[in-house]
Amino acid sequence: MSYIIGKKCVDVCDTACVSSCPVDAIHGPVFNDKMGEEVSYLKDTEDIKSITNPQLYINPKTCINCGACLPVCPVNAIYDSEEQAIQNDDIYSVERNYKFFGSFYKQLKK
Ligand code: SF4
Repeated sequence: MSYIIGKKCVDVCDTACVSSCPVDAIHGPVFNDKMGEEVSYLKDTEDIKSITNPQLYINPKTCINCGACLPVCPVNAIYDSEEQAIQNDDIYSVERNYKFFGSFYKQLKK
């Protein structure tokens, strides 16, 4: 289980969440091994428009589910689990978060 950044982050990429994370689990929208430094550059040059649906992502393998990122997001884009994202009709973001780090989300059958 992991926290998930949802569709409300698209085109926002505020990055307040990045520095709140104690285990550096939040990356993007371009590099999956950096801390969102590219956001300010991209916004300054308007190059962010060349990226399809730019957003930040949480690495599900690194996230320790501490919740520190949740209250700092100005657009309430962060779900506390894959299940919460899916309940909010946002499985697309779950799959995007996993795919960004080179893995796949496999929904458990109940
Ligand atoms: Fe980082 Fe905690 Fe948010 Fe996971 S829940 S992304 S560990 S701040």
